[in-house]
Amino acid sequence: MDKKVRVRFAPSPTGGLHIGGVRTILFNYIFAKRNNGDFVLRIEDTDQTRYVPGAEEYIINCLKWCGLNPDEGPHIGGDFAPYRQSERKPIYKQYAEELIKNGYAYYAFDTPEELENARNTIENFRYDKSTRMSLRNSLTLPEEEVQKLLAQNVPHVVRIKVPEDQNIHFTDLIRGHVSFDSNEVDDKVLLKADGMPTYHLAVVVDDYLMKITHAFRGEEWLPSAPIHILLWKYLGWEEDMPEWAHLPLILKPDGHGKLSKRDGKRLGFPVYAMNWTDPATQELAEGFKEVGFLPEAFLNMLAMLGWNDGTDQELFSLDELCEKFSLERVNKAGAKFDYEKAKWFNAEWIKKSSAKSLYPYVKDVFDAKGIQTNEEHLIQVIDMVKERCILLPDFYQQAAFFFEAPQNYDVDAVKPKWNSDKTAFFEAYIHQIEAGEFADAVALEAEFKQLAADKGLKIGEVMLPFRIMLVGGKFGPQVFDIALALGRAETIKRIEKALPLFQ
Ligand code: GLU
Repeated sequence: MDKKVRVRFAPSPTGGLHIGGVRTILFNYIFAKRNNGDFVLRIEDTDQTRYVPGAEEYIINCLKWCGLNPDEGPHIGGDFAPYRQSERKPIYKQYAEELIKNGYAYYAFDTPEELENARNTIENFRYDKSTRMSLRNSLTLPEEEVQKLLAQNVPHVVRIKVPEDQNIHFTDLIRGHVSFDSNEVDDKVLLKADGMPTYHLAVVVDDYLMKITHAFRGEEWLPSAPIHILLWKYLGWEEDMPEWAHLPLILKPDGHGKLSKRDGKRLGFPVYAMNWTDPATQELAEGFKEVGFLPEAFLNMLAMLGWNDGTDQELFSLDELCEKFSLERVNKAGAKFDYEKAKWFNAEWIKKSSAKSLYPYVKDVFDAKGIQTNEEHLIQVIDMVKERCILLPDFYQQAAFFFEAPQNYDVDAVKPKWNSDKTAFFEAYIHQIEAGEFADAVALEAEFKQLAADKGLKIGEVMLPFRIMLVGGKFGPQVFDIALALGRAETIKRIEKALPLFQ
């Protein structure tokens, strides 16, 4: 019987969630859904020096915002709990000891000063086959000495003993055959002096114990793969080793190197999923959520960084991605990030979404500006302006005038050409509105045009001023749709307010 597919996202809670991380989550999620599998969130917090308070909760909030909720995790539990590696500390030691017993790992007692000294005296120092026999470890010290040091609790680490002259290889789901020369791999620390495992030991032990079948992670982890392969083998678990997919990097817009938080600051776009404030420095890095992306657009954009379905289709819902996505079509090369294209996805998703589904997001935008709205009216307004919005805050620019009379008017666009005929026209128009039906945009337009003709005015001469009276500037949807949405009384009020300013 085939094993149940189980995948995991295994972040270290060290700060904001980079879009590369969200793409890894997305691929995990899609793969799990496609295969009726489980998606696990595991917090890799064994490096206490890099631990940042609040980062775990933040990651979970990002998952919620994206709608990529895991089936198991520290916040919801599951059959393989605990899902926080710091809470699994006692588990790892036995595996480190087993590796030592079988000759695949060793205790190293070198002090930080001794290692520093080795770095200063040996060119390109690495703890590996060329140096290990001249350092202070259980391979070089007599057995009694080792036992004595252990009994005295002398600080020590456990290192893997990487074999010489071996070709270590595996088949990556995206990159195909990948191989490493073991002579290039150093004896990485597996268990630290504080008794915590390093990432290398913990990731292998937990992927095994949590029955992970496929591991998706960023390409930056590829150099760690040989260590992990050796550990799977040395622990006798080779048969259960997950299949790996190392996802290509998201590159800077110019293609030179990995997209970093600094690039976002420099070029003026977010690189994190949601706002992240560094608790140490209070520095705020903006998120895609807060600048006004819809989660659907954000995920669609991320999926398309290095993937397509072989057709020209660019807009995919999450369900469609789950249906059509295939790892074979993921590019091996890194994908350049293009913020303009990201915004294009958002604009398309805003157009594609119903006004009702956009309502909660747009309401938040208006609430943040302190503008009172009512649901029915706002939904009507969203429908009128959504074609013109790229990011969610654009709804405020495009539609605030529906709820508040303009504070400023583009007077320059009308005043130089103003005359008393126009004043007379608008005075008459107010009477016309008062007396008329005010129920239909087409009828309103026809009546407006008729009045202009009766007064001997060209339609353009009064249409633009009317728009500016209602919205303040030369923008917005069809002017009679606006008037109708504002209602008779408010339309009259706005004409009366602006008229003296235009003369
Ligand atoms: N803890 C690693 C990270 O922070 C996880 C890498 C992996 O998925 O193996 O990204």
